[in-house]
Amino acid sequence: MGRLMQRVREGHYLVSDGAWGTFLQAKGLKPGECPEQWNIDHPDEVEDIAKQYVLAGADMVETNSFGANRYKLEYFGFEDNAYALNKAAAECSRRAVGPDGLVLGSVGPTGKFLITGEVTEEQLTQTFEEQTHGLRNGGADAIIIETMTDLEEAIIAVKAAKSTGLDVVCTMTFDLMPDGSYRSMMGVAPAEMVEPLLEAGADIIGSNCGNGSAGMVAIVNEIRTVNPTVPILIHANAGMPLYENGQTVFPETPAIMASHVDALLEAGVNILGGCCGTSPDHIQAIRERINVKSTPKMTLV
Ligand SMILES: [Zn+2]
Repeated sequence: MGRLMQRVREGHYLVSDGAWGTFLQAKGLKPGECPEQWNIDHPDEVEDIAKQYVLAGADMVETNSFGANRYKLEYFGFEDNAYALNKAAAECSRRAVGPDGLVLGSVGPTGKFLITGEVTEEQLTQTFEEQTHGLRNGGADAIIIETMTDLEEAIIAVKAAKSTGLDVVCTMTFDLMPDGSYRSMMGVAPAEMVEPLLEAGADIIGSNCGNGSAGMVAIVNEIRTVNPTVPILIHANAGMPLYENGQTVFPETPAIMASHVDALLEAGVNILGGCCGTSPDHIQAIRERINVKSTPKMTLV
């Protein structure tokens, strides 16, 4: 058991971090520029993002490596730098949190689909091993596989991440269907991901991005109907993005997100942070609400 799972097993609610992409843009990342190249070209700026989340009260921070797999990096001609960019990502976050802080190495989808035959299971395994081993060797405590929509890709990523020996989190992204249920873009329901991901070796499961905080309550409830004890991590976005006056705007303010904290904890969330549109102010608001509710929540097996 790694340090993340030890903290979870202590039974307290934990706070994770918020968005990285929009933060990098605010710091000057240009459209079409490779975000992960900043781990080498602007490491102080990347480190500062992690620091801002620590200052806001996060118990753990992610790494600037969401798209640092060789298929996504190919777009920039950086595919052979995958290992180095992931290692540098973890080093930036580790410097920000110090030796005792928790670093979650971020892994996103490759954008390639097994179902169409454009990539093989073996190629995906190699890609995720390259990425997760880079993150581990840069100092990550755990791997977080996120924004997954294809269960098969998620399973391959979890197995590859487990080969690092670190704790593994896996979260999928679900959309609200016209009938009120939630499904990933590839048709997977929250309840359907639970057993396959645990069988693959995931220590913590959950959901990220999606439809804002309120929708996450339904997703957590569905997970809990099939598994009452697995630790759950939720990174909601700040609501569905709106396009106003040429700008992307997220409707959930820090106060609105904080108003959903109680319902999420009561549904069974263990770790709460944010996704797209969230900032250190959102994380601080979540932290303050969780501190009010910080009694040990459940007896974990
Ligand atoms: Zn998001």
